[in-house]
Amino acid sequence: MKSSSSKMTALFMGTGSSVGVPMIGCSCAVCRSPDKRNRRTRSSILVSDGGKNLLVDTAPDLRIQSLREGISRIDAVVYTHAHADHVLGLDELRTFNFIMQEEIPIYAPPRVLERIKAMFSYAFSEENKEGVTRPRLVPRELPGPMEIMGIFVQPFLVEHGPVMNTALRIGDLVYLTDCNAVPEEGKRVMKGASTMIVGAVRYEPHESHFGLAQAIAEIQEISPRAGYITHLSHRMDHATLEGELPSGIRPAFDGLKIVV
Ligand SMILES: [Zn+2]
Ligand SMILES: [Zn+2]
Ligand SMILES: [Zn+2]
Repeated sequence: MKSSSSKMTALFMGTGSSVGVPMIGCSCAVCRSPDKRNRRTRSSILVSDGGKNLLVDTAPDLRIQSLREGISRIDAVVYTHAHADHVLGLDELRTFNFIMQEEIPIYAPPRVLERIKAMFSYAFSEENKEGVTRPRLVPRELPGPMEIMGIFVQPFLVEHGPVMNTALRIGDLVYLTDCNAVPEEGKRVMKGASTMIVGAVRYEPHESHFGLAQAIAEIQEISPRAGYITHLSHRMDHATLEGELPSGIRPAFDGLKIVV
């Protein structure tokens, strides 16, 4: 399998579950924690390789994430699925159009792309082309493995409760959030990955997400050089989790940058 250059990096734009941490109205210890690593915006990563920035999902917090990390360029976006916590920041791409003076291609598996176009009809309808403030995006189907700006990207289906989600192999990186089971085909795609980012919302299994032990097992089965846990809810305290994870697996936090 073709891999990207070894200098590929992944920056955790957000590492939170769908409502983020702290959660509105909650006064639990994690939501009130002074540890900055317990402040989690909605999950997304920025993959950089060869000077190009590939954003995975547009979280509702994309504006604040971009300001925090000083991002001024997004060359393409890849979507995993059309759940609100992964797409609602789409309109923030407008600012990147403005800075870069370029349209931005957005890639997603065909059924996900259709959902996104329906959710953001103002951004894609021909009638709205003039006069409406909207992001300028070029929708592109991601039906199977392809190169995006020289970066190898392979989508694969995983179970996410009643729906299917798309996990991604990006070079030697696996990005697997929002999943409660990986079918055999997906296991084949993940094989040989050097880095895995896997979602776990809480300790106990959840109907549409891994619990912590399941996420750990998924990483250990592939045995990458490094594993990271993301999409964390307020049930998980960073420092506690860090002490509990087996060696080679760490909790991710907003702003963490890793070399793949
Ligand atoms: Zn999610
Ligand atoms: Zn809380
Ligand atoms: Zn989801």
